[in-house]
Amino acid sequence: MPTPRIIVLTAPSGAGKTTIARRVLGIMSQMRFSVSATTRDPRPNETDGVDYHFVTREAFEQFIEQDALIEFEQVYDGLYYGTLRSEVNAATPEKPVLLDIDVKGAQNVKEHFGDDALVIFVKPPSLDALAERLTGRGTESNEALQERLNRARMEISLADDFDVVVVNDVLEHAVDETLGHIRRFLAGSHHQV
Ligand code: 5GP
Repeated sequence: MPTPRIIVLTAPSGAGKTTIARRVLGIMSQMRFSVSATTRDPRPNETDGVDYHFVTREAFEQFIEQDALIEFEQVYDGLYYGTLRSEVNAATPEKPVLLDIDVKGAQNVKEHFGDDALVIFVKPPSLDALAERLTGRGTESNEALQERLNRARMEISLADDFDVVVVNDVLEHAVDETLGHIRRFLAGSHHQV
């Protein structure tokens, strides 16, 4: 079995990791995106099977029973999010897989895959900047926004547990830095700190 190569982008919601993930995928054409399963409703710009596998709670609970998930969380509002084993199993040195998951999920993946996984924590420049981004996105109610900010505060305190931290202040710089870390990791010369 070739060693899997797993790249995880994690961050508090709204820190910009999905934007960074899209940019990385656009540049590194050999990289595959791990499409998570979720019970959340699709947002207007999202496509089933591309952004997420949007499933019912029953279907998700079946995934759990069948051990089809590497990790899963009830992230917000009791909604389930999880990484499908089938999405990650295809990872090889030539075809690495990119996961965009929450902080607890990233901790679980790191525990499971150890040095075969590179976990990059994308940090917002500040909590104020994060609040602005979440408000600007306009996808959350006030209450959900508060919940996300409270959670973000806790998640940011865990940043140093991960392999590398990238501050998403200027997007272009954050993308370049992320690409650098991924390339070094894939070349086998990444010194994890
Ligand atoms: P959103 O609802 O904004 O798309 O995602 C909410 C949070 O769930 C984000 O932090 C996102 O990265 C995370 N998430 C997405 N997929 C997964 C997954 O498969 N597992 C875990 N643990 N978190 C996920």
